[in-house]
Amino acid sequence: MALTMDELDFGPPDYKEMLPETLKRNYGKWIYHELIKPGVFKHVSSTGDEVYTVRSGQPKFIASSTVLKLCDLADKYCEGSLRFTSKHSIEWIVPKKDDVDKLIEELKKLGLPIGGTGNAMHSIVQCTGWVHCHTPATDAPGIAKAVYDELISYFQRDDLPARLNIAVSGCLNMCGAIHCSDIAVLGVHRRPPKVNDEVVSKACEIPTMIASCPTYAIKPNPKAKSIRIDANKCMYCGICYSICPGVPIADAKNDGVSIWVGGKVSNTRSGPAFSRLAVPYLPNNPPRWPEVVEVVKKIVETWASEAKPHERMGEWISRIGWPAFFDKTGLEFTDKHIDDYIFSIRDMRVGARIRGREMK
Ligand code: SF4
Ligand code: SF4
Repeated sequence: MALTMDELDFGPPDYKEMLPETLKRNYGKWIYHELIKPGVFKHVSSTGDEVYTVRSGQPKFIASSTVLKLCDLADKYCEGSLRFTSKHSIEWIVPKKDDVDKLIEELKKLGLPIGGTGNAMHSIVQCTGWVHCHTPATDAPGIAKAVYDELISYFQRDDLPARLNIAVSGCLNMCGAIHCSDIAVLGVHRRPPKVNDEVVSKACEIPTMIASCPTYAIKPNPKAKSIRIDANKCMYCGICYSICPGVPIADAKNDGVSIWVGGKVSNTRSGPAFSRLAVPYLPNNPPRWPEVVEVVKKIVETWASEAKPHERMGEWISRIGWPAFFDKTGLEFTDKHIDDYIFSIRDMRVGARIRGREMK
């Protein structure tokens, strides 16, 4: 008999073991669902059963005492289950219609907004930022919170032209999935890592460091038993710093934030698209990043008032044209919008040195 993943100690346990009873009973029998109000879906099964999905926002970091409160609500209204989604929201599956509003009231008391469905601003996806990562140029959860606070009404209602996905990543490794979001906020380093020869010579494997660089910017420096970095080739990704603590990349003076627009994953209408650079640099200004919030708000409000129904951010920009996007939003087009990186290749992923992929 084939072993399950958890018996193999390999991967997550079988999700079917954790389904609420109503979902187990109706597995494979659902016939349709509908959005009955912002943040609430109704699902109907061929057995006649119905369940309601309530979607709430969630903070990036949650105290264990808050998790216990959430678990109490799941026990009370959701057959003992809840789901933290990969899109940073919480989904509550409620079998009884009468419990939907009771749950929503209790979630509101905990400060969790309800929404992020349909033509709304969906939960802001973000990476760990300053708290847990070593390469950020900015703090993704801090920016996400500041943007959320300013745009929260767009999360709670669903009258935007289309869905709006916003994501924040602390650096261009993009753990916040920013490359395919309508608006992407991306921390940027603007200087290569600083090489500390003593640390590199004592603590790091130089061949591994050289192999880690996606742009071949690292060369050996045999005299110092260290390395040197070609500043013209470095794209400030910080991957070498993941390999060796002797090349820190954080730079309080030069690190900052860029804004990208027009990405999407879905195949609808125009197909998937990557984001494009809209603002190359804004200052890091914690704790509320007012410059970043102002630009994001300006882009959202311009798109919301100008786009046709169902037109995603990138589709709107494609229809009106890139110059018109800058005219309408009042953002400045600069020389930094022109990609003149001379060491660029057709697709960085064809390189043999990207994340263990083999060159074909
Ligand atoms: S995107 Fe960058 S800063 Fe954020 S978690 Fe990933 S590597 Fe760290
Ligand atoms: S790994 Fe990244 S940060 Fe390090 S030298 Fe290469 S391009 Fe620059």
